[in-house]
Amino acid sequence: MDFNPNAFMQSSIIALEDIQLRTAVARGTGNADGRRREVMAETGTPDNLRQQARGAKLRALADLPDLLEQMERNVTAAGGSVLWAKDAAEANQHVIDICKRHKLKRGVKSKSMVTEEIGLLPALEQNGIQMVETDLGEYIVQINQSHPSHIVMPVMHMTKAQVRDLFMDKLGMPHTDDARDMTQFARKILREEFLNADFGMTGGNFMIAETGTVVIVTNEGNGRLSSGMPPVHIAVVGIEKIVPTWEDFATLIQLLPRSATGQRMTVYVNGFTGPARRSEPDGPEHFYLILLDNGRSSIYETEYAESLACIRCGACSNVCPVYKSVGGHSYGAVYNGPIGAVITPLLQGKENAKPLPYASSLCGACKSACPVDINIPDMLLKLRRDLHQTQEPVWQMGMKAWQFGMSHPLLYQLGGKAATLGSKALPSGGAEVSGLPYPLHGWTQYRDFPTFAPQSFREWFKANRPGKVE
Ligand code: SF4
Repeated sequence: MDFNPNAFMQSSIIALEDIQLRTAVARGTGNADGRRREVMAETGTPDNLRQQARGAKLRALADLPDLLEQMERNVTAAGGSVLWAKDAAEANQHVIDICKRHKLKRGVKSKSMVTEEIGLLPALEQNGIQMVETDLGEYIVQINQSHPSHIVMPVMHMTKAQVRDLFMDKLGMPHTDDARDMTQFARKILREEFLNADFGMTGGNFMIAETGTVVIVTNEGNGRLSSGMPPVHIAVVGIEKIVPTWEDFATLIQLLPRSATGQRMTVYVNGFTGPARRSEPDGPEHFYLILLDNGRSSIYETEYAESLACIRCGACSNVCPVYKSVGGHSYGAVYNGPIGAVITPLLQGKENAKPLPYASSLCGACKSACPVDINIPDMLLKLRRDLHQTQEPVWQMGMKAWQFGMSHPLLYQLGGKAATLGSKALPSGGAEVSGLPYPLHGWTQYRDFPTFAPQSFREWFKANRPGKVE
């Protein structure tokens, strides 16, 4: 799959025709959202908790430079090494250099969107370093040579039968329709990978500045095995994942699993502060933390800074009517769904992801579901505004003419009459034939042009409420 956010419309049309995909996504998002609502209600005052979480993330962002330096000091004091990466290339190079220094050839990795973002696996492969994904969903995606379609549930787009066929085809699994058998089959393979790995990699859901600890939350235990078994552990974490204290973490951890998978708590919550101590019988001998910027500090300086408060729970995708209809791959980006529609243009350049801010009905469901109350609809509108400023002159002139007409009542009335007559003149019978001419053709490319009412509201009001209007 190629990443191309500008192909969103074409990809969506294909996705809308794919009944298997739509069934899988509807089931996955529906289940996750149903569970989220149940466990959020259990907290008693979910809105208070959300506002506490939002406060914790916004405070952390306000102190970001100081907190990152505090993190560096504490990781170093615990015997780890901190490396800063301004972009994807630098982050990948750090990993490659570490592999060369310790002669590492084969690694295991737990789920991490940030390593997807930097294209780590292809970069390692080019340097002769093999990396095996160990989260079951990511492992399926890897052997399918695809990409995750959801921030939290990488194979939401696949049915059980598709996974079975893939395992039979690529791994020689005997036929079974039992999901438990399929999981056990993959588990056996992955156990060997953990035992033979030279190094392990993780992302990080949170970084706790006061102790220099990276925390990951997982359900399969693969994060713990990836970080604890091999002799070298490398964590790549976006700089926005930092919080000052364990108290802030205690607030946020109540919300991440609830919002992501509808669990009160994930099966594993692991924190690591540097490599293993002398007194500890196991754990890595070397620990590296790569702090990734990759465009985040540019967002930090703008009116979109709030998007950095995202804790990547995916709840906004599960309630989004657009995501639920077309799935994650249609966005053509690592981060999809409503928050992806905001951060992809910001990280990759607005010109490279023009359709994404429009991939929303602006219904506000994403904001209501978000555990940190990020105002996604507002940022999507602002992005549309920014994009509008770079649009063709004909659009700019059209919008200016519209603005002029709307602010002059007589012109508005004449325009209404002309539109009524004009809409009657258009051929009817479906989107293919009822299109507006250039430059307005985009409006009717995917929808019928509505027929205007024969009588305007003003005319109706005048006829039915005489004396109330001039
Ligand atoms: S924007 Fe909010 S709901 Fe969406 S992934 Fe981020 S934290 Fe979760």
